[in-house]
Amino acid sequence: MPDQNLPPPGPVLVTGGNGYVASWLVKRLLERGFDVHATVRDPGDPKKTAHLREIAARSPGTLSFFRADLLDPDGFDRAMAGCALVFHTASPLIVRDVRDPVRDLVDPATRGTRNVLQAANRTPSVRRVVLTSSIVAVYGDAADLEDLGADRFDESHWNSTSNERHQPYSYSKRLAEVMAWEMAGAQDRWDLVVVNPGLVLGPGLSPHTKAEGVLMMLDFGNGYYTFGAPDLEFAIVDVRDVAEGHLRAGMIPGACGRHILVSESLSVIEIAEVLRHHFGDGFPFPRQTVSRAVALMLAPRRGIPQAVAKRNLGYPLRFDNRRAREALGMRFRPGAESIVEHFQQLLDDGMVKS
Ligand code: NAP
Repeated sequence: MPDQNLPPPGPVLVTGGNGYVASWLVKRLLERGFDVHATVRDPGDPKKTAHLREIAARSPGTLSFFRADLLDPDGFDRAMAGCALVFHTASPLIVRDVRDPVRDLVDPATRGTRNVLQAANRTPSVRRVVLTSSIVAVYGDAADLEDLGADRFDESHWNSTSNERHQPYSYSKRLAEVMAWEMAGAQDRWDLVVVNPGLVLGPGLSPHTKAEGVLMMLDFGNGYYTFGAPDLEFAIVDVRDVAEGHLRAGMIPGACGRHILVSESLSVIEIAEVLRHHFGDGFPFPRQTVSRAVALMLAPRRGIPQAVAKRNLGYPLRFDNRRAREALGMRFRPGAESIVEHFQQLLDDGMVKS
């Protein structure tokens, strides 16, 4: 990061500071000497906070935890007091087997974003908010690309195909980002910078993380793909690069707008090839791609509705990451590096057996 990006005075707030992505961001901030205010739902639960306390103990920065729930309208004021920079990362991430889309996803994502930004409006020190959005606020299904007549998604695109019943997590992220831009435009003290990461992979800092990327990597180790791989692509980015993208979005003076954080797209079979090349044949990595009919039949077993499978199987999923490279100076790790290091961590933690 260029030297002119000096830390802002005062503490920095990270909402959902214990999450898979946020933990790396908190680590980087602590290493740079920031005083980090991290909100968590339960600061007393060592499973949620011990890894960050350990990192803080050997870093120049300081760490304070604050209890805050996204649904609490006044929950973020105390944590935000005195902060110039706010990273709003907290949002529920459930993709499979969503029980109540409004209660579990849409409400916490949208009301949470409103509550955090209203707290920013009440907090005179705040100058910038970095929002963790997602590529799923950019697109709904891979088939959207064909409908748009484009060869890749970029920051000008918005997800217009998700709703409460179809891809509700994606819908929640779109609604939250739209609301954030509306609220940012209605005031002029703080500016909004948005990062839109792809599927985040790479080693986590907490052994208790249940992030979507962990579940997806577990599928490769636990035999879910024994019948073969669906013809599906993932737009991958490393968790450490996502943390770096947040830092740059927060520190670079003229940063503005949306930033797609994606290294590259790899299909399920390409990911399996990376894994087999590195870890050998002792795991149930798929060797061939199954037909569309078989993949459609198997999708509901993984909690993926057929309507979602139909609009994603067999469609390329490509993203333009030029804006993040040019405006934020991002360099992305190759997907293979994130995949191998992530799977190695699952082996080391005993979550996958050979
Ligand atoms: P994660 O590990 O599940 O972290 C989610 C965080 O949100 C946790 O700190 C969680 O707190 C908090 N949270 C959820 N519901 C909450 C509520 N009602 N009140 C307060 N906090 C709540 O997932 P992650 O992958 O790090 O995701 C972090 C952000 O990145 C999210 O905004 C997500 O949409 C975005 N993102 C993730 C990916 C990905 O592939 N992982 C890709 C693109 C964007 P608890 O620990 O208390 O549950």
